[in-house]
Amino acid sequence: MVIVDNIVKDYGDLRAVDGVSFEVKKGDILGFLGPNGAGKSTTMKMIAGFLSPTAGTASVAGFDVQKDPMEAKKRIGYLPESSPAYPEMTVVEFLTYVAETRGFRTKDEIHDRLANVIVKCHLQTVQNQAIETLSKGYRQRVGVAQAILHDPPVLILDEPTDGLDPNQKHEVRKLIKAMAEDKAIILSTHILEEVEAICNRIIVIDQGKVRVNETPEAFKARQPGSSIDEIFREITNSKAYA
Ligand code: ADP
Repeated sequence: MVIVDNIVKDYGDLRAVDGVSFEVKKGDILGFLGPNGAGKSTTMKMIAGFLSPTAGTASVAGFDVQKDPMEAKKRIGYLPESSPAYPEMTVVEFLTYVAETRGFRTKDEIHDRLANVIVKCHLQTVQNQAIETLSKGYRQRVGVAQAILHDPPVLILDEPTDGLDPNQKHEVRKLIKAMAEDKAIILSTHILEEVEAICNRIIVIDQGKVRVNETPEAFKARQPGSSIDEIFREITNSKAYA
């Protein structure tokens, strides 16, 4: 569903992403891990078609994100790192706007799409509130709602549970897991338990390169009981890293 082939991104002299390759199949939830500045967001932005790669390719459902951006973007839902813009809009106004930009035209179509994501993301009680008045947890759910509105086969979620309280984290994870069966999902996270709870594969990226591509069980077994930071340290100090 997603094929990333030797993708590179330079910001001036800085090589932020340095030849990253991986595949994600339908039913996969891929956890994207790495220290701050590792190149996770940049890689996700290139797959989502928001940044052009310096070299290499990414394709989504068979469409190259550079050569066929419209077809690729139709099949992608993207939750960026920061919450959605348009703080003065209500949830319904914002999601209506997203539905229109996604090409839904009739009132019925738009109503159906909104009703679906509002229920899925538990936004009923705040649907007529301005986004700027919502708690971080609700804002994040609005972000997820806009990403899944057109029911895309590929979801790219940049730190979807960042800043949420434990209950909200649990809810968002449940939602992601429930959607995984017929989608390919890539999510970045800093939380080991999140990876164990929902991902079936892990990629660790550091200094723009893939260091590890394995199951959560194998990842956890590297240093049982340790934090994700300790595991990073172990990986980055190992010979395989050099
Ligand atoms: P991560 O998501 O893993 O924290 P990023 O992809 O955001 O990492 O960043 C990778 C590297 O690229 C970092 O060194 C960061 O400072 C740099 N970087 C990210 N965005 C830009 C930008 N727009 N211009 C210049 N450098 C950037």
